[in-house]
Amino acid sequence: MITVGLDVGGTKVLGVAVDDQAPGVVVASRRVPTPDGGLGLVDVLGALVTELAGRAGPPAAVGVGVPGIVDHHGTLHLGPHLRHLRAQPLAAQVSALTGIPSVVDNDANCHAVAEHRAGAARGVAEAVMVTLGTGVGGGVITGGRLVRGAHGFAGELGHMVVDPNGPPCPCGKQGCWERYASGTGLGRMAREAAEAGRLLAVVALAGGDEEAVRGEHVTAAARAGDEAASQVLDQLAWWIALGLANVANILDPSVMVIGGGLVEAADLLLAPVRTHFAALVMGADDRPTSIVAAALGEEAGAIGAAALAADLVAGGPRPPG
Ligand SMILES: [Zn+2]
Repeated sequence: MITVGLDVGGTKVLGVAVDDQAPGVVVASRRVPTPDGGLGLVDVLGALVTELAGRAGPPAAVGVGVPGIVDHHGTLHLGPHLRHLRAQPLAAQVSALTGIPSVVDNDANCHAVAEHRAGAARGVAEAVMVTLGTGVGGGVITGGRLVRGAHGFAGELGHMVVDPNGPPCPCGKQGCWERYASGTGLGRMAREAAEAGRLLAVVALAGGDEEAVRGEHVTAAARAGDEAASQVLDQLAWWIALGLANVANILDPSVMVIGGGLVEAADLLLAPVRTHFAALVMGADDRPTSIVAAALGEEAGAIGAAALAADLVAGGPRPPG
């Protein structure tokens, strides 16, 4: 059975066609720009389904991952990038346009499903996925199933508050985990260190302008052996580990998967994250939690959305494995 998965990002929509017999393999894919604010998005999604159907065969269903909180009926309730879609019955609109069943879920939930079906948490019954990008997304698998909660809003790990006096978050609160354990957080910590005169090599990579320092300058300097850059990455690793430890204390997963843009620095981050996690989580010596990098790359969200579409046709989530 072919299903289509569509991952709606802040700047682009990635569409994939997947055969449910090989859930990690993309049969066809296509990327188009995200319309500003989500205006006209449903038509863009419909056109993607038509194009992928032409290349991969008619899909049985379509899944859509969106950045925001989505209820059990596929209605987006809060999504800063998609303000024109707020309170719209997105799943019903996509079904009406395409003529096939559709399911809409949070993008990080889709990513978690993909890693669970075909990636770094394949067959793992108790797993947590975090996507560390501009913000932080989360998805929780327990008993082999995605946790959606009473309203569909579960898994917003990035918005656990780790400092009530911290920087403002797009969600309207202050000091959310995603203000620290993200590319945004890394950039801010790096600029603070640069302004304190501690990051000369990094500032040089940014053209000599402290305000222009970005996360990629820090990782490049750290790879070149710059100690001050490594210290900033260690600070980032501590914040990542703090959130993972808080989540592990609640859910006790066996595997925690790190994805999103920061996974490109996994070679620099995973070891210090594991060290700090062991110091921060309760009972570390008796808790062999694996912290691993995501396996599926940037197509994961779309692959997971396609898997949710296959579940819809099959009549519900599959057992673990
Ligand atoms: Zn927040």
